[in-house]
Amino acid sequence: MGQHKTRHIKLERTVNFPTGVELLHNPLLNQGTGFTKGERELLKLRGLLPPSVLTQEQQVSRLMENFRQKPNDLEKYILMISLESRNESLFYRLVMENLEEMMPIIYTPTVGLACQKYGHIFREPRGLFISAEDKGEIASLLENWPHTDVRVIVVTDGERILGLGDLGANGMGIPVGKLSLYTACAGINPSQTLPITLDVGTNNETLRNDPLYIGLKQPRLRGAAYDELIEEFVMAVVERFPHALIQFEDFGNVNAFRLLAEYRDRICTFNDDIQGTASVTLAGLLSALRITGGQLQDQRLLFLGAGEAGIGIADLIVAAMMENGVDEAEARQRCWFVDSRGLVESGRTDLAVHKLGYAHEHEPVADFLAAVEALRPNAIIGVSGQPQTFTQEVVEAMSRFNEHPIIFALSNPTSKSECTAEQAYTWSGGRAIFASGSPFAPVAYQEQTLVPGQGNNSYIFPGVGLGVVATEARHVTDEMFLAAAKTLAGLVSEDDLVQGRVYPPLTSIRQVSHAIAIAVAEVVFARGLTAKSRPENLPAYIESQMYQPDYPIYV
Ligand code: NAD
Repeated sequence: MGQHKTRHIKLERTVNFPTGVELLHNPLLNQGTGFTKGERELLKLRGLLPPSVLTQEQQVSRLMENFRQKPNDLEKYILMISLESRNESLFYRLVMENLEEMMPIIYTPTVGLACQKYGHIFREPRGLFISAEDKGEIASLLENWPHTDVRVIVVTDGERILGLGDLGANGMGIPVGKLSLYTACAGINPSQTLPITLDVGTNNETLRNDPLYIGLKQPRLRGAAYDELIEEFVMAVVERFPHALIQFEDFGNVNAFRLLAEYRDRICTFNDDIQGTASVTLAGLLSALRITGGQLQDQRLLFLGAGEAGIGIADLIVAAMMENGVDEAEARQRCWFVDSRGLVESGRTDLAVHKLGYAHEHEPVADFLAAVEALRPNAIIGVSGQPQTFTQEVVEAMSRFNEHPIIFALSNPTSKSECTAEQAYTWSGGRAIFASGSPFAPVAYQEQTLVPGQGNNSYIFPGVGLGVVATEARHVTDEMFLAAAKTLAGLVSEDDLVQGRVYPPLTSIRQVSHAIAIAVAEVVFARGLTAKSRPENLPAYIESQMYQPDYPIYV
């Protein structure tokens, strides 16, 4: 029993290795009933565990039995988070071996529900909570984090959690979940990850009135006070964790664009809602074009929602078109937006600055269906957070103009999706190329089974993160996201396309992340964005950096 352990660690070479109860309470090292008899002797564990020794495989099947018996997804989430706090190797083994079943639990859609109820299901803290009250003391607060070699930080201020709006400090579920995906999908070592919530208050009154709400019960900080807190935070992180990549996540768009512009050339950072979304969506479009047979620069795209996701996607599409030789103005002209006030066009005087680059000349159009009729796009991309806005009329209109209308309903969680997979297939007579943000099950349509693509950012950010961390890149650039999109699209097989899939199966995510990390690393070396020199065998080097959740044997 326990005989599957192959990696040996000599205890005499490690300093202050924990033993006894302390070891069992260390989630990075704990193996629970997986400790062998010899280890139990060596590590002062005798009596602290039941006598039977289980292999990790046996532990996995026990956990899966528990998991599948849980009555609902929130209970499954709680089980998984508790496991993560107890035994990280086992948690990651379980997630990696059952990714399609686990991803909707540890990430969207269930993580959204968990965030809404965070104070009520709270068991123990994970990550760091930095609040407005810590101003002036963030550097000393960071000293409390027990690991010094942090390489990836995901930080949120909770203002726009998925499509669920302002959830304040409850947003912590998102950095925790995202970092689990960095490890599961790309093998970033969990000891090198750090989830952070910046609690700057919340404008969600229901939360502020909830006695069990975990955050500051005050309105959101705005203006200079907010910017000063962010600046202090960023500088403190750079000082304490100089090799860390900071991923900004689920900030409201009033801050997200500004912060990206402020920090992208100063530190190693990106915004997944803007840049990661852009990359995964571009990859889906490139795959869809293999079905429709068109060129990217010849497409007309209409977005519903002109926020972080929409503008981010359009900016990367413009960059991709420019790489194909189209000039910028012409490329922008191919991307159109409808926001909550109608078509974004140059006559409007109410446009936020991030929309101006896509305000083309056109008469006003009040609603989305009318915009579809007026512009006759090849693809519609829903990033509005507004459910059921791709109506039957919209999908039918798209199917009149296009043999294979491209319909991407990306709003999360599932309840916010602009239409369901089944609706898109049924209303288009089985011709739509469909992708969504949250997963939908395959749909039986007439004789076929159509498999909707999930435009899940997890195809992109873990691999980008791995490439950046492995090369110690100084910055994250759009060119890296373009390279990631092309790499991902290149991994979609003809078989996938036949089933209607515009992404490879999630089960191949480790290979996807590995390939993306290599592509990103090539950009890093080509642009001189690191002091490190390029390893001769880059694929092998990247692979060597990927964490595996096996148990070592201590001798
Ligand atoms: P955001 O708040 O920055 O933008 C939302 C936009 O929708 C705004 O421009 C707003 O004006 C517009 N909008 C609101 N109501 C509308 C209406 N009735 N009609 C038209 N437009 C309307 O948010 P975001 O970061 O851009 O995210 C938007 C949605 O996209 C969310 O649901 C999010 O979960 C989803 N998203 C999905 C993915 C993915 O699938 N990979 C990635 C990122 C974001």
